[in-house]
Amino acid sequence: MREELNKSIEIAADAKRALVNKEFKVFLQPKVSIKSNKVVGAEALIRWIKPDGTVIPAGNFVPMLEKNGFIVNIDYFVYEEVCKYLRNRIDSGMSTIVISVNVSRVHMFTDDFISKLVRLVKKYRVPPELIEFELTESVFESNEDSMLETMQKLKELGFKISIDDFGSGYSSLSLLKKMPVDVLKIDREFIRNTTGDKEEIVLSSVIEMADKMGISVICEGAETAEQIDFLKGTSCDMVQGYYFSKPISCIEFDELLEHGILNQ
Ligand code: C2E
Ligand code: MG
Ligand code: MG
Repeated sequence: MREELNKSIEIAADAKRALVNKEFKVFLQPKVSIKSNKVVGAEALIRWIKPDGTVIPAGNFVPMLEKNGFIVNIDYFVYEEVCKYLRNRIDSGMSTIVISVNVSRVHMFTDDFISKLVRLVKKYRVPPELIEFELTESVFESNEDSMLETMQKLKELGFKISIDDFGSGYSSLSLLKKMPVDVLKIDREFIRNTTGDKEEIVLSSVIEMADKMGISVICEGAETAEQIDFLKGTSCDMVQGYYFSKPISCIEFDELLEHGILNQ
C-alpha cells in the first residue's frame, strides 16, 4: 500500500510539473452522423505528450490521477482549452459543433464544480449548449440524489449531458427515466460483441429504448464497415470510433471540418 501511495504522489507531482510545462494536449475524436456521414460533434480527450514526443493516451494515466485527485485540474484544463477552441472558431466565422468533455467521478461532487463552469463560459463567451458533459454510470452508485441535482443545474444552465460507457457496469434503467440526459453513449464492448444473435438483440433494443425516450444514441468504438452496416439498420444516431477517425489534434480537426474527408 505504501508503495502504491508513493507512486501516486510521484505521478501527481510529475503531472503538476507537466501541466506547467504544457505537456498536456487536448485531442478531438469526431462523432459522425450515421445517416449523413458528416462530422456532427467531437469528444475532447486528454493526451500527455512527453518531451521526447511520446504520446500517452488517457487510459494510461487518468486512473492514477483519479486516485490522487489531480484529475480535477486536468478536467478544468480540458474545459478551458475546449472553450478557447470554440471561441476561436466563432471569432473566425467558422461553423461550431458540440464538444463533449469527460467529468471524473471525483470531480462531480467538488463544491465549486458548477460555479467554476459558469465563470469559464462567461470568460470565453461560449454558448453552454455547445458543451456536453459526459458522466459515467458509476457516479450514481455513490450519491444518486446529489448527482441528479447537479445534472438538473447543468441542464438549467443550458449545458448538454451524456451518459458515458452506458451498459458497462451498474445500469439502472429506472434511473434513466429520472435523469435529464440528452445523449446515451453505448459502451464499446457492445459493438465489439455483435457476433451473435443475442448480442445484436441486446444492442438494438437498448438503442430502440433510448430512441423512444427521446434520447440520442452514439455507439463508441466502431472499427469495421460491418459494424457500421449493422448500426445503419438501427435507430442509432451517431458513431465515434476508429472506423471514421482516431482522436486527432485540434488543428487536424479544423482541417477535417473544412474538407470533410471521412471513410465512406
Ligand atoms: P471514454 O470517455 O469512454 O473515451 C473513449 C476512449 O475510447 C478513448 O480512449 C478513445 O481513444 C477510445 N476509442 C475511441 N474509438 C475507439 C475504437 O474504435 N477502438 C478502440 N479500441 N478505442 C477507441 P482514451 O483517450 O485513452 O481515454 C480513455 C478514458 O480516459 C476515457 O474513456 C475517459 O474515461 C478517460 N478520459 C479521457 N480524457 C479525459 C479527461 O479529460 N478527463 C477525465 N476525467 N477522463 C478522461
Ligand atoms: Mg468519454
Ligand atoms: Mg466512453
